Parts: sequence; structure tokens; C-alpha cells
Amino acid sequence: QLQQRIHGTTLEINLNALTHNFNFYKRRIKPETKVMVMVKAFAYGGGAVEIANHLQTLGADYLAVAFTDEGVMLRKQGIQLPIMVLNPVQESFELCKTYDLEPVVFSLEFFTSLGNWCKNNHTQLKVHLDLDTGMRRLGFEEGHLEALCNLIKTYPELIIQSLYTHLVGADEEIHRDYSQEQLDSFIRMKDQILPHLLQKPLLHALNSAGIVAFPDYQLDMVRLGIGLYGVEVTGKHDRELQAISTLKTTISQVKRIEPGETIGYSRKGRLENGGKIATLSIGYADGYDRRFSNGKGYVLIHGKKAPVIGNVCMDMVMVDVTDIEVKAGDEAIIYGSQISLKDLADRIGTIPYELLTNISSRVKRVYY
Ligand code: PLP
Repeated sequence: QLQQRIHGTTLEINLNALTHNFNFYKRRIKPETKVMVMVKAFAYGGGAVEIANHLQTLGADYLAVAFTDEGVMLRKQGIQLPIMVLNPVQESFELCKTYDLEPVVFSLEFFTSLGNWCKNNHTQLKVHLDLDTGMRRLGFEEGHLEALCNLIKTYPELIIQSLYTHLVGADEEIHRDYSQEQLDSFIRMKDQILPHLLQKPLLHALNSAGIVAFPDYQLDMVRLGIGLYGVEVTGKHDRELQAISTLKTTISQVKRIEPGETIGYSRKGRLENGGKIATLSIGYADGYDRRFSNGKGYVLIHGKKAPVIGNVCMDMVMVDVTDIEVKAGDEAIIYGSQISLKDLADRIGTIPYELLTNISSRVKRVYY
């Protein structure tokens, strides 16, 4: 309530919806398959600490972040689940050790420098190996495996917790064959590595869409991301997931517009026959994408669609409310259960992931 008065925009996070979505995926996997949850990028914009805390109570097995400092922050806030760091930099080895974070190792060079660091510091570190089966981003390739197996013998200080790969298009039917090839290649690669390991690592390959599309490849663990946050990217189970976040703002002012007048920067907005606009307390600095300008985006006010008029400003946006009964102080829903994030993302040529992770830090998160 206080936040509503000092800053018009709030991101409300419904932790019950998060539980619902978690259980949706839990029902789809075998009881013995573990769940790693991606809480990188501030838990896809929802707030990493609060969501990680909630996941601890739900029984998630692992968390993953992109960068070491994201993991350090979670540890400082008391999160105890194991944390995998997808893309650590070499300068962060010490922090990984101090905060019990488990870096991903993705190249022979990285393996060697981390192994040397451990030897020099008389310590061990839990690590995960990323196998590149077609993403062409990070990871060991088939041609690296012999050298990798030699390094595994040279550096017993690196305790290999898991082997994993990442599918490039599990959400797209058109890429099904490619995904299957990736999975086949993962199985071949892990078979080559396993005999060289002292302990059996966890094997994992599936993201949210993969859990739905490739149920036979759950292996030891799945990596849940966007689905937990309420977006079912394959489109098959849209109605079975619940939106966890509602981005809301308020109307600062309502103005009458005459025919011929222009609205906002660069005179881009017009109402041919005149009408009424509402100015909302949210702009691109809050993460409301500027590509929503000029009718590309819309918000909901009293359940009715109000299209964006003119260019989105840094802290404000104007919407057409000619046909809606409104006054200053009324609420506008930017994203939420009544608005499909996928539809909004499509309108500006992006993906729901970007809309969620762009909600900026000045937007207060409220949990209920
Ligand atoms: N695994 C890896 C390596 C990722 O980078 C991501 C997300 O980008 C995920 C899993 C989760 O993917 P999704 O959010 O599509 O479930």
C-alpha cells in the first residue's frame, strides 16, 4: 500500500501460483528425478531471494544462476540449496569456494585453470560439465572428450557433480529432430566420459519446454525456468499454468485530446477524431519496452484494452482511454493473468523471457 503511494508501479508476485506451476512440472517427472530451478536474472525478474526461499520450502533440489555474484547474493541471504553457476569468470574461483557455489566448466582451458587453482589452494571444488550438442554457445564438443578425460584424471580436485546439455529449440516442433539429435549426442558423450569419473554424476538436459516435449529424457534432473514463472512456451499447456506476476501501475492524469493534436515525443501519437488519454506511471526505465510505442502495446484498465498512444517515455506512457471510464489514481495492468505475455512479446518481436527479465530494479516487488 505504502509503495503504491510513493511509486505508482508494482510487480505483484503470487507465490501460490509459483507452487501451482512447480507442482505442474513435478507431476510430469518421475519421483526420483531432481528439479533444478533457474533463478538467474533475479529469478526471471521475480526476485531471486524470495523465490529461492519459497523453492526451498517446495523441495526444489538445486538452483542455477548465470554469474557468481548472483549466487553470492543468494548465499548472503541464507539460501542453502546447492547452486550451479552457468557462466563463471576465472576471477571468481575464490568466491565459489567461499560461498559453496558450483561453477560450470565448459572448456579445456577453463578446466585446467580451475584445476590448477584448486591444486595451488589445496582445495576441492564441485563442478558441472556443459556438453555442447548443438547450441554452439559454451561447452565441450565431441572432439574435446579425450583431452577432457585426461584432465579429469589429472585434476581429482574437481568433483564432477553433473554432466548436462541444453536444447536449442525444445519449444518448437520444427526443431524436434534437431533436439532429438542433441539428446542422442548427449547420451553418446556422457557414455564416453562416465568411465573416467570417480562418482556417478547427475545427468540433465531438459528445460521447461523439454520436460513437456521429451518426457523420456528426464534423466537424473531437469532444469526448470520460464514454466515455473507461468509461461508455457510450447503453448500446449497454457491454461494449466498460472501467471505468477502482475505488473501494475496507476493513472497519473487523464486528458482530453482534440482532433489534430499530437501526443508525446516526436509528435507520434494522434487520435484522429479526438478522445481521451491516460498517462501512466511506467516507462521504459521500468522495463516497459519502448517498442510498445504507437499501438504495439496495450494495457488493461477496468478489464478493457487501452492501446499505447505515441512513444513510450522514460517514466511514463500514454494510452487511449477514449471508450473507458477512468480517473487519476485508477489502476492499469501492464502484464498479468488476463494478458498473454506471449502475445505481447510477439507484438514487438521478442520473447516473454525478455519482458520478464527487463522489469527494472526500481519497480517494487510485492509477494503474497
Ligand atoms: N538450462 C540452461 C542452461 C539455460 O540457460 C536455461 C535458460 O535460459 C534453462 C535451462 C531454462 O530454460 P527455460 O526457461 O526455457 O525453462
